[in-house]
Amino acid sequence: MPNFDLSQRVAFVTGGNGGIGLGMARGLAEAGATVVIAGRDKAKADAALAELRALGQADFVALDVRDEASCRAAIDGTAARFGRLDILVNNAGTTVRKQPQDLSIDEWRRVMDTNLTSAFICAQAAYPHMKRAGGGKIINTGSMMWIFASSYAAPYSASKGGIVQMARSLAVAWARDNIQVNCILPGWIDTDLTKNARVQVPGLNERVLERTPAGRWGSPEDFAGIAVFLASRASDFITGMAIPVDGGFSVQT
Ligand code: NDP
Repeated sequence: MPNFDLSQRVAFVTGGNGGIGLGMARGLAEAGATVVIAGRDKAKADAALAELRALGQADFVALDVRDEASCRAAIDGTAARFGRLDILVNNAGTTVRKQPQDLSIDEWRRVMDTNLTSAFICAQAAYPHMKRAGGGKIINTGSMMWIFASSYAAPYSASKGGIVQMARSLAVAWARDNIQVNCILPGWIDTDLTKNARVQVPGLNERVLERTPAGRWGSPEDFAGIAVFLASRASDFITGMAIPVDGGFSVQT
């Protein structure tokens, strides 16, 4: 039986206060990890913490991932408070749905800074703690938009393509430090992010149901298993990979 036990492990999950991030945080907590979730919305975080604390030790750090100093302080603070940092989940993400010609540079930067630059900053901040502990696991949330394209998602696609390529570079750079860096690629998942999309993009719900072989939207719970796998010793020889969690969306023509 492979070792999926995460007790004695400490995880930091950006955007862990809701949606896919909370789905992963729950899985990590169920496997025994101490979980620190980070985000902006305290009300969402309070509800998430109540769930996570029923499973084990958990905490919340209020931060905007676009703020470099806050990210570094939160990661160093987590390692200082719990004595180590083993698992980083770079999951916070946002989008602006507009045609490329209508996007402002501020909107472009908001998406890139939230989805991509923050992940680099957090990984860089986590590195010395993981190296000192003899290894670590970094899980980035990518997207089908790394594989496919959309007319209304230029910065989102660029950020998600970037986060996968960045993960591959970090994986190569840090393999000898026993740090594995992988991405998950969610298909269409029912979260706050896509609730807005269903309103803004007519016919989306029908298209998703028709196009997804599993015949349903994914749910945050679908991410608990992959998070535990990629955070545990069971995946020690897997690095630089981008794994779809999409009900077959990416394999059907
Ligand atoms: P949610 O909107 O539920 O989650 C997004 C999370 O990111 C929230 O917890 C939010 O926290 C956090 N976040 C956003 N901006 C910031 C910021 N500036 N600083 C700190 N935290 C921030 O949507 P999902 O769960 O769907 O999204 C999670 C990830 O999954 C994203 O990276 C998204 O791109 C990706 N994804 C989602 C898909 C889907 O179908 N749902 C498909 C493919 C990828 P807060 O509200 O506190 O700011």
